[in-house]
Amino acid sequence: MPEIVNLLIETFGKHCVLTHEQASTRIASNWKQPGNLNCLALLLPENTQQVSKMLQLCNEYNQPVVPHGGLTNLVGGVVTNANEIALSLERMNKIEEINTTNKTVTVQAGVVLEQLQHAAAEHGQLFPLNLGAKGTCMIGGNIASNAGGLQALRYGVMRHLVLGLEVVLADGTIISSMNKMMKNNAGYDLKQIFIGSEGTLGIITRAVLKLEDMPGTRNTAFIAVNSFDKANELLQLSRKHLNNNLTSFELLWQDYYTLMTSPPSVFAPPLPQTYPFYILMESLGQNEENDKTSFEGFLEGCLNNELIVDATIAQSHQELNWFWGIRENVEHIFSVHDPVFLFDVSLAISDIDIYIKDIRSNLQSIWPDAYLYTFGHMGDGNLHLYVSCGNDNKETKHRVEEIVYKPLQKIGGSITGEHGIGLEKRSWLYLSRTPEEIALMKTIKKALDPKSILNRGKLFE
Ligand SMILES: Cc1cc2nc3c(=O)[nH]c(=O)nc-3n(C[C@H](O)[C@H](O)[C@H](O)COP(=O)(O)OP(=O)(O)OC[C@H]3O[C@@H](n4cnc5c(N)ncnc54)[C@H](O)[C@@H]3O)c2cc1C
Repeated sequence: MPEIVNLLIETFGKHCVLTHEQASTRIASNWKQPGNLNCLALLLPENTQQVSKMLQLCNEYNQPVVPHGGLTNLVGGVVTNANEIALSLERMNKIEEINTTNKTVTVQAGVVLEQLQHAAAEHGQLFPLNLGAKGTCMIGGNIASNAGGLQALRYGVMRHLVLGLEVVLADGTIISSMNKMMKNNAGYDLKQIFIGSEGTLGIITRAVLKLEDMPGTRNTAFIAVNSFDKANELLQLSRKHLNNNLTSFELLWQDYYTLMTSPPSVFAPPLPQTYPFYILMESLGQNEENDKTSFEGFLEGCLNNELIVDATIAQSHQELNWFWGIRENVEHIFSVHDPVFLFDVSLAISDIDIYIKDIRSNLQSIWPDAYLYTFGHMGDGNLHLYVSCGNDNKETKHRVEEIVYKPLQKIGGSITGEHGIGLEKRSWLYLSRTPEEIALMKTIKKALDPKSILNRGKLFE
């Protein structure tokens, strides 16, 4: 056994350090990375001090470490090689304090997102980050990847929900910045550098997060429109007319909607499959008397003036699950098409329509039978594209990526709105960041992790 593993076992005991063999009974990823974990050892710290001491030793031994949260990352951010040590935060899963006066919650990094949502709800509070992987992903992973999700339009992304952070640097230094205030301008806001750093700058161990009042009303509709411009008009109008309650505005192109509402999908179509665009719109509010009436009245007005052509409002919890299932059950695509390339680009709302039309035509000019399924958070300009063109060899992958990513540079879009860079998008980073930005990122990495032990090779080639 390598010396560093022996030393870690000696220092922390066998319950905190699993050997290569023990770790290899675990899965490597909760998202389509086949096979089991193949690492030198798996560390399971129980507190920040242990994380600190573990990193100190690994740093001394120049030992690469890959931080693991819920392993739902989609871009190879948690890929661990046989010569790397994985460090999972899963045992640091305590919700330390929910403060309903200050509207904050203090958590350890291994708390599962859904567990936090439930705990907050028991106190009449909402923790508004919401995403399909909520039952598995962890707060540390959400912060490290600056997760976005389904309610970012109203509440922002993870960055906007973090007030304070505790991080352990590569050399074991603990940076405790557990601020609980909204305003604190005492020097640099250090936490920002770690949010979205994909485990490359430090290991997040604890956080102070913002809470919101739990909404008392929820109105959700599936809507059909005849053009992208109508969808855009509806978005602008609903922002104005729904008393700032608009929380989700998810756009589904016809082919995605049809796929998700046709067998073998378990979901029937709530509206006919004949329209070019569908919107899943949700409004969360507090006014039990008025919210429903104003939501229905707004949609009725839109129908009357032909802004929208069809709509149906969820009437029960079951219907809510049905509507959201159509939007969220992305795994269904893989049961119909394999292989599939997955993208999460971000761009100005006004550029979306033409961008998608161009991508489709460019793909089909090379692969006439290619499928492009598009849907996403239109309200914040973040789209998910699933492309299937028959094979996934290296050359095809590169050509598809070129078609999807290259046009984004010209229009100031981003190659990733949510999922990050990881291993998958390293070679395209230059399209979304200037050489000077990338150089500064590398300077920061070097300053905080001079031996590059943390998530080595992720983010940068
Ligand atoms: C079905 C599905 C739906 C999804 N929907 C969305 C969505 O709507 N929006 C969105 O943004 N993402 C989405 N994702 C992607 C993913 O769930 C998020 O990126 C999530 O935030 C990752 O959390 P995790 O705990 O699983 O992190 P992991 O996958 O374990 O890790 C993510 C990255 O963070 C690092 N990391 C993990 N924990 C720490 C820590 N404590 N300190 C430092 N670094 C750490 C890892 O090394 C890795 O680079 C989805 C994924 C799936 C499978």
